[in-house]
Formats: sequence, C-alpha cells, structure tokens
Amino acid sequence: MARYRDPVCKLCRREGMKLFLKGDRCFSVKCAIEKRNYAPGQHGQRRTKLSDYCTQLREKQKTRRIYGVLERQFRKYFRLAEQQKGMSGQNLIRILEQRLDSVVHRLGFAASRAQSRMLISHGHFLVNGRKTDIPSYRLRPGETIEVRPKSREMVAIKAALEGAKKRPLPSWLELDADNLKGTVRSTPTREEIAIPVEEQLIVALYSK
Ligand code: SF4
Repeated sequence: MARYRDPVCKLCRREGMKLFLKGDRCFSVKCAIEKRNYAPGQHGQRRTKLSDYCTQLREKQKTRRIYGVLERQFRKYFRLAEQQKGMSGQNLIRILEQRLDSVVHRLGFAASRAQSRMLISHGHFLVNGRKTDIPSYRLRPGETIEVRPKSREMVAIKAALEGAKKRPLPSWLELDADNLKGTVRSTPTREEIAIPVEEQLIVALYSK
C-alpha cells in the first residue's frame, strides 16, 4: 500500500497550522510549528496571495493529511459523499471520521491516526469481538471496538490512553476505560467533529 514517508511536520508547516500528526510531541515545545511556522523549502518564507483555486486545494490537502488518506481514496470518499443524502462536504467529513483508525485515535487507544493505523494493521483491536486489521473499516452505530486481551499491557496503548486524558471524548462515542472498550453511539454530526476544515471549499474544488 502506498503511503507518505517524508517527515510529517513538513505537512503542518505547509498548511500553516498544527495538524496533530505526532501525538504528544504536538503538545510540546518540540513542535515544528512552534519553532518554524512557515512553509518548508527555499521559498517557504515568501508571502504570496493565494488564488481561489489554491485556497480550495490547500483545504483539501489539509483534510487528507489530517486523516492520512491518499488522493485516490479521498476521491472515492468524495464520490460516496455525493451519492448520500444531505450536504456532500459534511458527508465527506463524517465518512472520514467513521474510519476505524480515526475512531481508535478519538477513543484514546492511539496517540495519533498514524499510530492507530499501525496498531490496527498489527491486529491489536477487535471490532464487534472479531479481529480487524483494516484501518479504513467504516464503523456504524452500535458497533464496538476493543483492545485485544493480549495487547492490553502494551506500553504504546497505555501511554496513548494517558495522553488522551487531555482531549475531550466526542459525544457520539462511548468509552469503557476499565475494559478498554469503545462503542459508537450514533452517526456523528458535523458539529460533533472537531476539525478545522471548511469542507465547502473541497466541494467547490471537486465540482470544477
Ligand atoms: Fe504538526 Fe505535531 Fe509536527 Fe507540530 S509536532 S508540526 S503539530 S505533526
């Protein structure tokens, strides 16, 4: 599977904001945005006025990078979002948010979505009691996610749970911290998804 392999802090610097791609480091003074809040590269510190197209493109790239989804899959999600009832932009964000890797991160079992993908693909989680190693699996209301009994003592998961105490749990998820188990209570609404994205710009970009 293709994936992005360069330093992820460059992605935050390109978007000019923290995308929280590295777990605890993002909350420390080591964060690259704290030290060098300008785009990477030789011309990164130049000031340029963005065209409408560029603004829309950056919003799409930012969303892709937050969720760690490559272009082809992102387009597929957009097509799916268009086919659903309601506003395409909001549907898109909801589809991304319901991915297993995102939910595992939101529940606090992983420090970042990237770590979440790694833990899932190594088989550390059960969905509805069955081992599931597909990070893109889309969760529906009523489904449960739990850490596999064998993996409950993993240092990475324990550290992630500790770090997650700083983040609020979304209201559409329920966490049983003692049993390391989460439940999807409902389909998330856009208001319940805390990401700094103007999804209508993505719709405008793909509608050209
Ligand atoms: Fe982005 Fe986190 Fe790197 Fe800061 S530490 S630049 S928020 S990935």
